[in-house]
Amino acid sequence: MNGYELAEFVARGEPQPAESLRSFIAKVGAGDVDRDEATSWLKAVHEYGCPTQDTVVLTQAMINSGAQLEWGDGPPVVDKHSTGGVGDKMSLMLAPALAACGCRVPMLAGRGLGHTGGTIDKLESIPGFNCSLTPEEMVKAVNQVGACIAVQNDAIAPADGVLYALRDITHTIDSVPLITASIVSKKAAEGLDALVLDVKTGKAAFMQSFEEAETLAQSMVETATGLGIQTVAQITAMTEPIGTHIGNALEVIESIEVLHGEGSQDTRDLVVLQGGALLAMTDHEMSEEEGRRQMELVLDNGQALEAFKSMCLQQGVEAETLQRLIKSPSTVLGTAPHQTTILARKSGIVQGLDATALATLAREHGAGRFELDDVLDPLVGYILHVAIGDAVDANQPLLTFYHTKTIDEEETKRLNLSVIIGSEPVERTPRLLRVVESSSTKP
Ligand code: URA
Repeated sequence: MNGYELAEFVARGEPQPAESLRSFIAKVGAGDVDRDEATSWLKAVHEYGCPTQDTVVLTQAMINSGAQLEWGDGPPVVDKHSTGGVGDKMSLMLAPALAACGCRVPMLAGRGLGHTGGTIDKLESIPGFNCSLTPEEMVKAVNQVGACIAVQNDAIAPADGVLYALRDITHTIDSVPLITASIVSKKAAEGLDALVLDVKTGKAAFMQSFEEAETLAQSMVETATGLGIQTVAQITAMTEPIGTHIGNALEVIESIEVLHGEGSQDTRDLVVLQGGALLAMTDHEMSEEEGRRQMELVLDNGQALEAFKSMCLQQGVEAETLQRLIKSPSTVLGTAPHQTTILARKSGIVQGLDATALATLAREHGAGRFELDDVLDPLVGYILHVAIGDAVDANQPLLTFYHTKTIDEEETKRLNLSVIIGSEPVERTPRLLRVVESSSTKP
């Protein structure tokens, strides 16, 4: 049965015959399906959706289209996926902190196509950091130092690579089953025992409404659980930026601060939340609270920082560079030639920090891509001096924009408008809005 015939099942709202769906996806992965046939199937799934059982078959078929990491007996193999947000640098701390807690973390990550860079763009601002690892190199790195972060490549789930490129040009990206299969297949190919999903919601998120985020979270949790991976999703708020630093190199600086047991509480809390959930999933004796305590311990006692150093060395950073990076990151990463600091025009309370507006301006200055092959400027970004709910005096610095090109009057105005100051007290809402578990794992 070909893609056109499968599309007819989808359009009728009927489950697709599993064997036919499997062989269709295998052919897609091998490059043996023409563009029109694959587009016809994608458009049907995008328009009509498909039942969870089809999503599980589709995800498994995508996994089977490429290499899968294999692990011998040993510590739990864990990872997380985030749908991405402004200032979302969690992976840089989470992978080494979990390794310090005794887990194996083979993290595959992407470059950003959107407002901000992805995890790989952030790491590539470190001179010498090599993210291009083969599946064999990933296994070796994790067995040696506990964690690695590598860029997604054609060896893992190649069918997803083919379909994702086609989705991009056929406007079929925003489909819950297609997003689910795309994300979960790459994570499942890592051979995971447990997975935490950070599904962001809010004005600066991929899934803006809470309901959309919940639907995607439920679909990914059910699918990953269906593939034998213990999974929870945390739905978290994404309206104001995470932490204090935004931008590829600047986020590395903030991550190193947190790995020193210092830095932004907001960032640290999210790392601890995600890591705590994973530790609790992999050890049934451990509560989430205890998992969070363990994460805090390794951030405070330097073990997470040591694991980060081992990961950097393992992935090509020279020892002398690493030493300077840890002590004084900007001497290694550099600093943008221009810095524009925005001051409060009046006294009051910070009511809002517009993550989308900040990210849009930074992207126009090279912090994020418009086209796949755009080259980023790692030095562009922000340091935020205030957070929502802070009281400020007139003329107090609110944020500093780091940029390489000069900025004009209109851009300065946009910067000023991105911080809203009013007189009302503001209660900071917690990042975590809801935890989604599989219906099959609920008591
Ligand atoms: N990220 C992915 O890897 N795939 C999608 O479909 C969407 C986001």
